[in-house]
Amino acid sequence: MTITNQILEKIKEYQRIIIHRHQSPDPDALGSQGGLAEIIKASFPEKEVYTVGGPVNDLDYLLTMDEVTDEMYREALVITTDTANAPRISGEQYQLGKELLKIDHHPNDEPYGDIAWVNTEASSTSEIIYDFYWEHQEELKMTDEAARLLYAGIIGDTGRFLYPATTSHTFWVASKLREYQFDAAALSREMDEITEKIARLSGYVSENIQIDESGAAKVILSQEVLNRFEVLDSETPAIIPIPGKLKEVKAWGIFVAQPEGFYRVRLRSKGPVINTIAKRHHGGGHPLASGCNAKDLAEVAIIFEEIKTAVKEYK
Ligand code: AMP
Repeated sequence: MTITNQILEKIKEYQRIIIHRHQSPDPDALGSQGGLAEIIKASFPEKEVYTVGGPVNDLDYLLTMDEVTDEMYREALVITTDTANAPRISGEQYQLGKELLKIDHHPNDEPYGDIAWVNTEASSTSEIIYDFYWEHQEELKMTDEAARLLYAGIIGDTGRFLYPATTSHTFWVASKLREYQFDAAALSREMDEITEKIARLSGYVSENIQIDESGAAKVILSQEVLNRFEVLDSETPAIIPIPGKLKEVKAWGIFVAQPEGFYRVRLRSKGPVINTIAKRHHGGGHPLASGCNAKDLAEVAIIFEEIKTAVKEYK
């Protein structure tokens, strides 16, 4: 049986399905989670389907979370979307389910779950969810809302078709999704909008990018800076692409201080592979977009040296 048949069989088998995604959700996490939930609900109206996880922050125009009790997991199928490793799953209750399915597009470095469908060729997990629907469209139903969510996931993870993971298949899926009724222009606009304080923080980031002659760049956002601009770490995704707009910059790290004292590290690249760096520091992700934590400024400095090395070796 193919992997998608196995997944469909599991979905049919269970009356209750609880879908989780990764912590600090982005549009693909919520798009794939909510898109899959919508498809299952529309296709099997008698089933109970829940979307679960921590705060969605300013992405509540995409999806909001359901309340579930531990008890509800006892006879439930749990599916995770867009979540490479178990510690990144949002909502520890996921462990209470009867079976666990993983659907993801990140490198499968730390496998978990009873069945995993991982396609690292896909631009996004939302693209994979559409493929699942397409392959089983005789039994599955797409809805306008599912299409909106999956489209959001694709444009989120591809930077509106900018990043290299964007393939002709990605465009095909996006095109199929646009056949449904939702306001794609409004959605793109909503996803692109930033708050005034993030606009001001963007100015700080632009002024404080440190660029090495190799083309490695870094930005450190201290707690003092975050406090000054009154922004939370969860609001910082909008500033991540800024260093990449500079022609000189080949790969970069954004280091965001956390209240506990460590730094959340976001690594991005135009070519040099940087997930090897993330993995050396107990993180992970894609070759050109990955993340990890650094315990202090000394580890931040080490990571920056590693970015420089990656850029030099790439040349
Ligand atoms: P972010 O910088 O948070 O947008 O994450 C970029 C990519 O790196 C995503 O695919 C994440 O799954 C991955 N990633 C970020 N932080 C970590 C981490 N601490 N451990 C493993 N993967 C991570």
